[in-house]
Order: sequence, then structure tokens, then C-alpha cells
Amino acid sequence: MTKIELRPKLVFDYFAEINKIPRPSGHEEKMMAYLQDFARRHNLECRLDETGNVLIRKPATKGYENRKTTVLQSHMDMVCEKIAGLDFDFSKDAIQTKVEGEWMTAQGTTLGADDGIGGAIQLAVLADDTLEHGPLECLFTRSEETSLVGASNLDPHLLKGEYLINLDSEDEGQIFISCAGGGNTRAYFDVDYEAAPKDSFFFKLQVKGLVGGHSGDDIQKKRANSNILLARLMYRFMKKFDMCVADIQSGGLHNAIPRDGYAVCAVPMKYKEDLRVEFNVMTAEFEEEYSVTEKNMQFVLESTDAADRVFTSDLTGRLLRAVLGVQNGVLATSQDIPDFVETSTNLASVKLIDGKIKVSTMQRSNLTSKRLATLDAVSAVFELAGADVEVNNGYPGWYLDPNSEFLKLAVAAYERLFKKSPEVKAIHAGLECGLFSEKYPNMDMVSIGPTLRGVHSPDERLLIPTVQMVWDHVLEILKNIPEK
Ligand SMILES: [Zn+2]
Repeated sequence: MTKIELRPKLVFDYFAEINKIPRPSGHEEKMMAYLQDFARRHNLECRLDETGNVLIRKPATKGYENRKTTVLQSHMDMVCEKIAGLDFDFSKDAIQTKVEGEWMTAQGTTLGADDGIGGAIQLAVLADDTLEHGPLECLFTRSEETSLVGASNLDPHLLKGEYLINLDSEDEGQIFISCAGGGNTRAYFDVDYEAAPKDSFFFKLQVKGLVGGHSGDDIQKKRANSNILLARLMYRFMKKFDMCVADIQSGGLHNAIPRDGYAVCAVPMKYKEDLRVEFNVMTAEFEEEYSVTEKNMQFVLESTDAADRVFTSDLTGRLLRAVLGVQNGVLATSQDIPDFVETSTNLASVKLIDGKIKVSTMQRSNLTSKRLATLDAVSAVFELAGADVEVNNGYPGWYLDPNSEFLKLAVAAYERLFKKSPEVKAIHAGLECGLFSEKYPNMDMVSIGPTLRGVHSPDERLLIPTVQMVWDHVLEILKNIPEK
């Protein structure tokens, strides 16, 4: 088998250089120094903002001086994951790449193509004096992988450009034009106890084996939420059998769809059999409701040791009513892109921790007003239930503008090159572009990139031929930037 060529050579050469430079999130100093040195060697203007984001400017090529300024952007840092037992130090060792068929991977570590390949495209554009383009700004941000630190703190006066190409997408042939903003709502219930009633049947109620997933990317996949199934059972038991509760531990991370949970509860002994019947009926209904999406869902009701004390019935009532009453899942889809999730909320966890019951939720929307409205709606329900509510408005989304001038330009360039149309998409999760749009409200942006798979894991791989395609696309866009 003939070995695939790494083209464009200049891009892959720079990718190899970048992969020699350690760049875990929060420790990009060596990368910052490399970029400053690169600018010096190429006689290019270089600026650093206070956060350490690096900007390198390249003047227009002859005849393109009147064009609008375009920003090319990538992030400097990479996720550092390796296979168990591998002797590799991300703070000093170079990534070792290998080629398998059409794919480039690393030997036991993340490849760093997220987003090193974006950076390599920028450096190649800066270094190559044969290209045709207007004034360029290449922005390299810090610590994208740890809550978008560089983009969040980007100096709002650093960029002069009117258009921006974010090079951090993972599917060649797709152009992203919008992302979601995200915020959190946490509710805290003070826990008051009363003595456990005599002659009670204590049981542990468990939901487990759910698929779960990312609370943005997977929220429309019709998967079950363990907190809600648990609360549905508990609410019914409370109403029918006078149930009381001694403990609840359900769900996990704020940005994950919860997969499991349990509660320790009690009902008067006389209801023990009826409880079992109701449990069997309801769980059979749940299996019916999720027969397609949840194949391994399990429910357990088993007797357990009696507790000395239980939550007051007032607290149990307020908690279960709030958890059942609060919205969850997809709340709205886009007016512009069919079936695209615009607004969602995730009931992530309900846990007794340090004498309080903490309920953690996350709200997302591509529209700022809807994100804030959803934060309000979730807060309001928990306030009604008498909880203390803590709201974090979070980070902004990137507003979807289907009439974007730059999008039209990018689509036309793609069609000219490849004789087919790219997919125009929005993402229901955060991207740096959301933060750029907050600091530079008039910036017209698209996000593209070569095809990557298995990102953030040692399986990360780059589809080599798509690098040439993205390179050609970027150059075709740059050639066609309109005049000021
Ligand atoms: Zn990335």
C-alpha cells in the first residue's frame, strides 16, 4: 500500500512543530513563546493580551490592501489523555504521531489536532508569501478546553477584523454558524428531620443503567433522566402510601444527563405489598416509554435497615413537587434550522450533602434572552418550593444569523471548489465564538475544520485528506473577502 502524502506539506510541517511543544490547558507558556518567536522570525507584528492570548498580524498581499480584515483563530491548548500505563509526560514530551491509512493518530496519547491542526493552518498562512489575501489577524487563544478561559478574557480591543474563521470544528464539509450559551441554577433545601415513624417498611429505591450523555449534544436524544424517574416513583408513593424519605443521592455532573440514583424511603408496614405492586406497574410503564432509547435501564426496590430519622413531610413534599414540576429536556427548537435544539435544561443531580439537599441544573440556549428566561423559570420553581437558589448566568451563545454575509461567502467558496454544498449547522454546546460575539458584537463568523474523531481521548485521529480541503477552503474564502 502506498503511503498517503501529508499535504499541504507546510501545514503538516507546522503541525509536527506544534506537537513538539507541551501545551496542556493552563500551561501554554512554551506555545506562547514559540508564537512570539515565529512572528519575530517572519517580521510580523505580534501582540499578547493580559491573559496570554497571542495575536499575529500579517499585512495584505499586493492588490488586496482594501479588503476587510479577516481573523483566523484556533486555541493553543490540548486535552492531555493517555492510555493507562504509558510512560509519557505531557509537560515535556513531544506527541509521537503515526499514519494508519488515511488517518493520523498519536502513539497512546491524544493527538492534539484539536486544535493544533487549526494552529498549523494559521502558521502556514502566515509563513506562505505566495498566497492572496487582505489584511490578516491570527489569534491563538489559551485554555479553551478548561471553560474557554482565553476567549472569556480576550481583550475587547485586540482585534480589528470584521470576519472571523474559527478553526476548531471537527467535520470537514460542515460550517458552524451558532453555538449555545450555558448557565447553571442550583437549589439548596435546608434539611429538617423528624423521628422515623414506628412500624415502617424501609426500602432502597434505585434507578440505574441509563445511557446518559452530554447535556447539550445529547439532550434531544429522548433518553431518560434518572432523577426524574426516581422522583416520579417517589411522588406517587408519597401520595398513595404516605412515604417518607431518609436519603437521596441521584445524578452526577452538571453537564451530564443523569444515569443513576437512589433514595432511602419508608412506608407504613401495611402498604408493603401495595408498594411493590405500584412499583412493578410504574417501572413497566417506564420501560415502555423508553423501549427504544434505554435498553439497559434497571429498577430496584429492596428492603434496607431502618433509619432513626427522616425528612419532615413538609420538606419531602416541597422537594418532590419542585423536582417533578421543573422543566427538563428540550424546551424549544430553532426557527431557522429544522430540528435544531435552541433551548434546553438538564436536571443534573439531587443529593443530600452536608445537611442540605442540593439540586443542580444546567440551562442552554443559542439565544441569550431564552437562556436567561430558562434560568429564571427554573429558579422560580425552586423558589416556590422554599429553596435557596444560586444562579450562574454563565457564558453567552453565538447568535444564529442565517443571513450572515460571511456565511454566504464561505458557502459560495466551498461550492466553487468542491461542486457540492456544505452543511450549515449550529451546535447546542459552547464554542469560543459565543464569547467573541459578546466582545465583538459585529464580528461575522464561521467555524470549520478538518475531520477529527475520538477527540479528548487517546483515540483522537485526523482524516488527512480533509486538511487539504480545509486549507483550500480557507484560501478561497480569503481571496474573496470584499473591499472595505
Ligand atoms: Zn478544540
